[in-house]
Amino acid sequence: MQTLDLVAPTTQELISAGLQLPIMEAFYTIQGEGRFTGHPAYFIRLGGCDVGCVWCDVKESWEAAKWPVLSIEKIVEDALAFPGRLVVITGGEPLMYNLDPLTKLLKEKGFTTNIETSGAHPFSGDFDWVCFSPKKFKKPHPSIYKVADELKVVIYNKSDFSFAQEHARLVNPVCELRLQPEWSKAEKFTPEIIEYVKNHPNWKISLQTHKFMDIP
Ligand code: SF4
Repeated sequence: MQTLDLVAPTTQELISAGLQLPIMEAFYTIQGEGRFTGHPAYFIRLGGCDVGCVWCDVKESWEAAKWPVLSIEKIVEDALAFPGRLVVITGGEPLMYNLDPLTKLLKEKGFTTNIETSGAHPFSGDFDWVCFSPKKFKKPHPSIYKVADELKVVIYNKSDFSFAQEHARLVNPVCELRLQPEWSKAEKFTPEIIEYVKNHPNWKISLQTHKFMDIP
């Protein structure tokens, strides 16, 4: 009689399929930036990023292997413990992973799904709101431009204004445009951003309000 040789998938295979993901942290807080500023939200921060922004404030997220790998069922179960039903998937760079299974399960459980991404990898997942924050350090993948609901450009130096305009030309016409001062440069650049937005009224200002409130 023939026996079937059943081999359990490895963790790496489960991660590649998007069924397990490295989680750096997950927490319930108030969204501090962009279109959903002020909304209570459950943040899922995935470990792993290959973009390498010099001013990154979550450099400890870069190495995916440092973080525990959880099943998507466990990730969603943890999110359900809180009353809010808005989830923000961030990183690291969340699009390093296939987000189709996680977002499908989140939506089945009644969550609104948002993502914050540099767009540096092919798009995946079922999202109600896509916040695209391109970085000079790694070129975005072309798949992000047609799905971005919001273009949020961090202003760290003067050339970031033209970088913002370059990307504004590539996103779809209904995409909301925001400029956000990098936290350590806010004093220097906020007055320039204010003047810029007054003169380019298709842009709005985004501030990291969670840092003013001293919440994560
Ligand atoms: S993309 Fe985000 S996590 Fe990655 S280096 Fe840049 S700021 Fe940090």
